[in-house]
Amino acid sequence: MSDLKMMKKIYDRLGNDFVRSKVLSSAELFGVRKDILRMDTNNYCNIRCIMCNREHTSAEKHYMTLDNFTAIIDKFAPKIRNLYLSCACEPLATPNFAEYLKYAKSKGIPFVSFCTNALLLNQNIIAAAVDYQINEIIISMNGFNRKDYNRIMSGSDYEKVCNNLKSLNKYKAINKFADHAPALRLNTVLLKTNLSHPEECITFVLENNIKTVQFRELIAFQNQNNPTAVKEELIFGSTPDSTTDTTAHLLENAQYIAQVLRSHGIEVILPLSVSPNRPVTPKHKPAPTSPSKPPLPSASQSPSKHTCSVPFFSYWIDWEGNVRICGYDEKAIIGNALALDFNHLKTQRKKFQKLALSGECSSELCTMNINTTILK
Ligand code: SF4
Ligand code: SF4
Repeated sequence: MSDLKMMKKIYDRLGNDFVRSKVLSSAELFGVRKDILRMDTNNYCNIRCIMCNREHTSAEKHYMTLDNFTAIIDKFAPKIRNLYLSCACEPLATPNFAEYLKYAKSKGIPFVSFCTNALLLNQNIIAAAVDYQINEIIISMNGFNRKDYNRIMSGSDYEKVCNNLKSLNKYKAINKFADHAPALRLNTVLLKTNLSHPEECITFVLENNIKTVQFRELIAFQNQNNPTAVKEELIFGSTPDSTTDTTAHLLENAQYIAQVLRSHGIEVILPLSVSPNRPVTPKHKPAPTSPSKPPLPSASQSPSKHTCSVPFFSYWIDWEGNVRICGYDEKAIIGNALALDFNHLKTQRKKFQKLALSGECSSELCTMNINTTILK
């Protein structure tokens, strides 16, 4: 079992966020590398998926310079266990991204990964990822045939992405390292289309040497690129409590895909809502306008608050260097990594950690699947 999985297991077993926060704070005092940093080096994506609600295409394109990147990595590297070079944008749209990979890996961070739609995965990036032994590449993919893929991931090109993945696997096979890094992981959303063709998903995973598949729930937001198309892809439709024949069939297909892939030694992560033990009422709440701008609850509402220890081990940094310690709540911005030293950021961090522990963050509206996805 990898160190990370072991840590995740221990974290889950602690079961209580107060205990978790104490353990994480003590680990920090002893200089244990425990933090997870997710970082964007630009504000842009080169395609327009139907379900994406980020304002990439309307925004002016900006990139984090390599100098700024190295300054931030120098500050954070000693604390970081996992570095994910992308959280909301397409990392390969950053010019000369191979140099960013090289620098991140040179700083001794145990696990470096990036998440991409793979349309810009060229030979230069492939060579950098394999030669510098990047630990993982996460491929974001929805639709496992040309027609569905090109409709759902609008602006991308199914054949080109498949060819890029072939080139990656070919280069990996020729330049074999002992631990076969980078491992490939597939992130895919549970869509009616994908679950209607289980064999296509299975074939794609097996043919592309994917080691882990993470299915995520499709959540409808009002400001997605194509809300009408998203509505048609929801597997639970508008009545999440009642399981229609179609929904039941799609859930069976999700289970079937998981079962077949697991029989090939592939790790499959399914959200609770599609597991056989799913709760009667899955987590399908009315959609907020945007995950980064949650509406405030009215005075008459009595939101169900819960505690959270995510801000005790997480950082999200955008292309300008702004640091937040929760991916959801705007109050979690603790400063700018280029302007402030680490101790100053730490002081600011403590203030939001207190809010998260008392449930005073946006926990009642938070769509993050805290227990299953954060430590992956
Ligand atoms: S690849 Fe990711 S960031 Fe780009 S449009 Fe699709 S969902 Fe959004
Ligand atoms: S908003 Fe969500 S992720 Fe952020 S601190 Fe609160 S519960 Fe945790």
